Amino acid sequence: MEKSNSIKKRKKLALHWRIIIGMIAGVLFSLVLLATPWGKEMTQLQRGGKFMELSNAAIFVSNWIKPVGNMFINSLKLIAVPLIFASLIKGVADLKDISKLSGMGLRTISIYVATTLIAVTIGLLVVNAIQPGTSISEETRDDLIASYAGDASQKINLAEEQREAGPLRALEDLIPNNIFFAASDNGNMLQVIVFALFFGIGLILIPSEKSSPVIAFFDGFNEVILKLIDLIMLVAPYGVFALLSALVVEAPNAELFIALFWYSLCVVVGLLLMIVFYVTIVFLYTKKRPSFFIKGIFPAQLLGFSTSSSAATLPVTMERVEEHLGVREEVTSFVLPIGATINMDGTSLYQAVAAIFIAQAFGMDLSLAAQLGIIATATLASIGSAAVPGAGMVMLVIVLAQAGIPEAGLALIFAVDRPLDMLRTSVNITGDAAVSMLVAKSLGKLEEPIQNG
Ligand code: ASP
Repeated sequence: MEKSNSIKKRKKLALHWRIIIGMIAGVLFSLVLLATPWGKEMTQLQRGGKFMELSNAAIFVSNWIKPVGNMFINSLKLIAVPLIFASLIKGVADLKDISKLSGMGLRTISIYVATTLIAVTIGLLVVNAIQPGTSISEETRDDLIASYAGDASQKINLAEEQREAGPLRALEDLIPNNIFFAASDNGNMLQVIVFALFFGIGLILIPSEKSSPVIAFFDGFNEVILKLIDLIMLVAPYGVFALLSALVVEAPNAELFIALFWYSLCVVVGLLLMIVFYVTIVFLYTKKRPSFFIKGIFPAQLLGFSTSSSAATLPVTMERVEEHLGVREEVTSFVLPIGATINMDGTSLYQAVAAIFIAQAFGMDLSLAAQLGIIATATLASIGSAAVPGAGMVMLVIVLAQAGIPEAGLALIFAVDRPLDMLRTSVNITGDAAVSMLVAKSLGKLEEPIQNG
């Protein structure tokens, strides 16, 4: 894709540095505010019909800073659907051949499923080795359950609907009955993908004098969207400042983090192992060095971390993989939107660790067969998780139910779910990027990138 923007040329500091500075500044800002006498002062106010006590710092940040973060996330989500639409139609039309599309589809889905199975297995190995659930005292367990029972039951109710669905429901839901309805809900990304693929196939099948103006239109449309991503990224440092600043004032107290230290450690170690796994397979298969891969995808990882949403990060992931990792657009436009919705290695790993942790905390000893069952359900549950904050926890309910682990145990891990969500989202995105490099290499569509770093 042609790079023709003065915005890029004016940049002095690399994007990832600007985002990191924004993140650190956001955290420091809230910490300093919380430490001032005014910031610490508690005020009573009414929210959603309930009276609650909040610090001045929390009120200030939620009134004046958090909206900036929400605007940033919304602008990213805003372009996700048009981006998938335009780039996928153009990508499929460029393949010029339906057999190429099915070849790529099969490869993509099989690698996605394989990486997810590996992620769950890594999660199970780590959690069985560290045994975090055995270190949690009965008293802490009961305290946690008492404090988070309400929040947990909300997630359990959300999962109820999914659980009641018939076996073919997921397939049935793939086909939208109205494209405008599908496109009007970011949660229906798979339906938009299906429509765009279908449209692209139609374009391949009609004579080229008819299809070329349509392709040219989507090509131009796609360029506009890519330019919008550049513009949004100009404000990314401020957006992440606001998001992290809001997180700090909303964070639960440190004692809970300590109680859940070993559990969190298992998730973090597992996620780090996944990153090592990705850079290794990318290196072995494409001969691209780990530093090349990480440098290319780093800003998207940081955004995934700040937004906790693979869907919101998708526009940036696509841009980075294409321009900085050298994957051709025909591949990114297909592999990445599908990956953002169905390939969640970080989420599946976390679900496996969380399920075993809860079982251990309740003194249950899970047999090998039950653990193998978790491999299957966590893989499916991660595929079914929406690419939005906290979705992995909703689907965890299903994993728990299948394995006969008390669902109330969800309350145990609630306190640390947000930071772990941030980390697993970064891993989800990294997995999508790694797989698109593998698919691109296997199809001869991996090139020298326009830029790296
Ligand atoms: N937040 C994750 C994502 O968007 C999903 C989850 O694990 O909750 O990728």
